[in-house]
Amino acid sequence: MTTQPTIAVLGTGIMGAPVARNLQRAGFTVRAWNRSLDKAQALASDGITVADTPADAAKGADFVMTVLIDGEAVEQTMVDSGALQAMGEDAIWLQCSTVGIEAIEHLADLAKQQDIAFVDAPVIGTKKPAEDGTLTVLAAGNRELEAQCQPVFEAIGSRTIWLDNIGDASKLKLVVNSWVLAVSAAIAEAIALAEGLGFDPQLFLDTVKGSATDNPFLHAKGQATIKRDFAPAFPADGAYKDIKLILAAAQAAGIEQDLMTAVQQKLERTVQQGHGKEDMAAMYHATAKPQ
Ligand code: NAP
Repeated sequence: MTTQPTIAVLGTGIMGAPVARNLQRAGFTVRAWNRSLDKAQALASDGITVADTPADAAKGADFVMTVLIDGEAVEQTMVDSGALQAMGEDAIWLQCSTVGIEAIEHLADLAKQQDIAFVDAPVIGTKKPAEDGTLTVLAAGNRELEAQCQPVFEAIGSRTIWLDNIGDASKLKLVVNSWVLAVSAAIAEAIALAEGLGFDPQLFLDTVKGSATDNPFLHAKGQATIKRDFAPAFPADGAYKDIKLILAAAQAAGIEQDLMTAVQQKLERTVQQGHGKEDMAAMYHATAKPQ
């Protein structure tokens, strides 16, 4: 019998926890670490080994997957907490957090200094696709790693898009998120406008239904907003972090992003008003007149 590869999942928040569970279900030996240990401990009943430190999780693992909030958290976990140094020479670091362009290049350099194989692998999809194992993985790195990494990506996603150059996956992720954030802000404003003009906002959703401008995201986020159900799938805090990465990338590329600038302001107000831990659909709060 062949031994199943071992994978260390560092970061078991909204995305990391279901990702770890799906890897376990697919037959990998999974070790999980999280800064607030209770979140990792919740995975023990699934047969996942909980590690006390990032280095304990990474030692002897075939893959180390980072699913942390941002580039700083990834560097602290991998470098300051010793996970990178603990990795074996044949191990592969799968960097799945959304960290933006500057940070991904820096993290890839840190891996290179230690001679560790690195894949820039942000994911598209939110809490439910992570639970269902239907994420889209954007993977960029040495194509020779593809065959080894593919079973990992197939355990967590339904689609993998491979790109050649480290950094390209993180760039594409920012492009996709710029679209998602623009649509999310538009949904918040259209619902608030419908209410402000005295309509039941359901009338707006029903009117658009089946037309060329309809999409499933509108109905999911629109219904949640109407019910004021802002349970986090993609928290506003994370969206605010991402929009700053998008604007930094646009500025470096000489692209004017007026819409993204407006969405950034809306997200900033959402966070300042105390809704950062709620879903990004809580942008509605920074849109509707206080009642
Ligand atoms: P989350 O639930 O807020 O989890 C964030 C994770 O980062 C937690 O494990 C947190 O630890 C950890 N963390 C934060 N600061 C840290 C630090 N300084 N040192 C070590 N660990 C730290 O976020 P998430 O939604 O799972 O997102 C994880 C990554 O996936 C982010 O890059 C996000 O942009 C990306 N992503 C999210 C979605 C989504 O829809 N949610 C979709 C695609 C991609 P604690 O538990 O101790 O706070």
